[in-house]
Amino acid sequence: MNKPFASSEDLATKAETLETLADGVHALTAEGDPNVGAIEGDDFVVAFEARATPTAARDWLRQLRELTDKPVRYLVLSHYHAVRVLGASAFDADVTITHEQTRRLIAERGQADWDSEFARMPRLFAEPDSIPGLTWPDVTFTDRLSIHLGADRGRLELAYCGRGHTAGDIVAWLPEQRILFAGDLVEAEAALYTGDAFHTDWSTGTLDAVAGFGAEALVGGRGPVVHGRANVDAAITQSRSFLTVLLDTVGEVHNGGGALRDAFRAAHDALAPTYGAWPIFEHCLPFNVQRVWDELDGLDWPRIWTAERDREVWDSLQS
Ligand SMILES: [Zn+2]
Repeated sequence: MNKPFASSEDLATKAETLETLADGVHALTAEGDPNVGAIEGDDFVVAFEARATPTAARDWLRQLRELTDKPVRYLVLSHYHAVRVLGASAFDADVTITHEQTRRLIAERGQADWDSEFARMPRLFAEPDSIPGLTWPDVTFTDRLSIHLGADRGRLELAYCGRGHTAGDIVAWLPEQRILFAGDLVEAEAALYTGDAFHTDWSTGTLDAVAGFGAEALVGGRGPVVHGRANVDAAITQSRSFLTVLLDTVGEVHNGGGALRDAFRAAHDALAPTYGAWPIFEHCLPFNVQRVWDELDGLDWPRIWTAERDREVWDSLQS
C-alpha cells in the first residue's frame, strides 16, 4: 500500500511550548511544527515568522499578548515558504522584511508554493480562506540589516549566511544575549526539508557561518529550543550530517549511472536509522532526493514544486 502523501494524514494537534529565553526574547515551539519568535524593543515588537494563515498566526499572537502589548513594528520572514509567511496580515506590522532573493522567489513561485504546501501539510493551514493573498516584503536586503531595540536591549542583526534551505534564508541574531533564530537552516530533532535547497553551499560555508555566531541558544525552524553552546553546535552538526549523508548517498548512485529510485532507497537506508523517527522525515525525503539529483545534474536554480509535480515525485519514490 502506498504511504499517505506527505503530511496529508498528520492531523493530530501538537503541544506548544512558549519560552522566554532572555528579557523580551520569546520563542514558541510545537513538537516539530514550524517555530515562531518575538523580540521586544523598548516600545515595539519584532516578530520572527508568520505561520501559514492569519488564523494560525492569531493563535500565536494571543499567547504573545499575555507577555507584552507592544505593537508589532517589524515582521521578519526567514524565507519564502508558505507555512512561514501566509499568516503575515494578522501581525499588522509596519514593515515586513525578507532577503532580496525571497522577494524574487515569491514573485516567481509564491502561488505554486502555496498550493503545494497546502496539499502537503493541510493541518497547518487553519482557516485557509483567512489568507488575503501572497505576502510581500516592504524592505529587502542582501547582507546584513540591524534593528535597534532600545538603549538597554541592544540590537537585532538580520544576516544572510549564504544559499541553504532556499536561495534567500536569513537568520536573526542577538549579539548581546547570544541567541540565534536560525529559520530552516538548522532543525533540532526534526528532518530537514531540502526540496528548494543548495545542498553543497548549505552543508559547507552556510552552516559554517551559522556556527560562527557562537550562539548560546538557538531556535531552529522546527523542534525544541536548543540551550547551551555544546547543544547548539550539536544541532548544527546534526543538520550538516543530514545534508552530507543525503549528498553522498544520492551522489554515489548518480555517479554510478543508477536511477533516481535507487538513490531514494540508498538515502532512505542511510538516514532512517538516525533521523527516521523525526517529524516530517518520510514527508520530506522524496522531494529532498529529487532536488539533490537535479543539483548533481547541474540544475543550479531549483525547479518549481507544483501540487501536480509533488504527486508525481511522491508516487514514483514513496510507493
Ligand atoms: Zn522552509
